[in-house]
Amino acid sequence: MIEDNLKLVKKKIADAAARAGRDGEEVTLVAVSKTKPEEDIMALYKAGHRDFGENYIQELRTKHDDLPEDIRWHMIGHLQRNKVKYIASYVYMIHSVDSLALAETIEKEAAKHDRVIPVLIEVNVAGEDTKFGVAPSEAEDLVRAISALPHVKVRGFMTSAPYVEDPEEDRIFFERLRHLSVDTAEKKIDNVTVDVLSMGMSNDYEVAVEEGSTMVRVGTAIFGERDYTK
Ligand SMILES: *Cc1c(COP(=O)(O)O)cnc(C)c1O
Repeated sequence: MIEDNLKLVKKKIADAAARAGRDGEEVTLVAVSKTKPEEDIMALYKAGHRDFGENYIQELRTKHDDLPEDIRWHMIGHLQRNKVKYIASYVYMIHSVDSLALAETIEKEAAKHDRVIPVLIEVNVAGEDTKFGVAPSEAEDLVRAISALPHVKVRGFMTSAPYVEDPEEDRIFFERLRHLSVDTAEKKIDNVTVDVLSMGMSNDYEVAVEEGSTMVRVGTAIFGERDYTK
């Protein structure tokens, strides 16, 4: 049952946090529901869960329209500028900002709805060719540029570590993102609050929590394997 999976993941988060001398309550579990049916989301909703992550705009729109208003929808996938308008009125947080151009579009659409949209800067910590995100060396400049936009609020950083058999191999990347986060926080940039570190997926979230993650994005370990053929 997916409710049981949710409980188990929460327990593992709490244990990993405790190993690092942290409180598991500091870690938000974003249940990544992409490709999964609305019934699955509702099962967790009824169990009290509110944070859900989606990658595809059309799917997010449909689910948002169908499901309860108080769900916090996290956009975690690559976002095209011309799609921002479809989610700007309700998206809770956008984890995948990797250019000033995208942030400027978010600014424009957020202003139309008179709201401030919280965003994370996606960082390609391992420098993988296949991944989106800015290089760590470019992150601070991007944060500074976005800080000038009144309807976009930088809250921190996001990364997807390489897929590896042994999650210990990803520890170094989580550690690097944490250092980037601490360094950026120390700069005390106006209109920027660096308090979110979105890192850790099904295969590596415990290591990510040990390394300071405050938001894990877990799909498969809760909902089971995804079927992209449907
Ligand atoms: C799909 C996805 C996840 C969840 O991956 P799982 O391995 O199923 O936990 C997390 N983050 C991003 C950006 C994703 O695209």
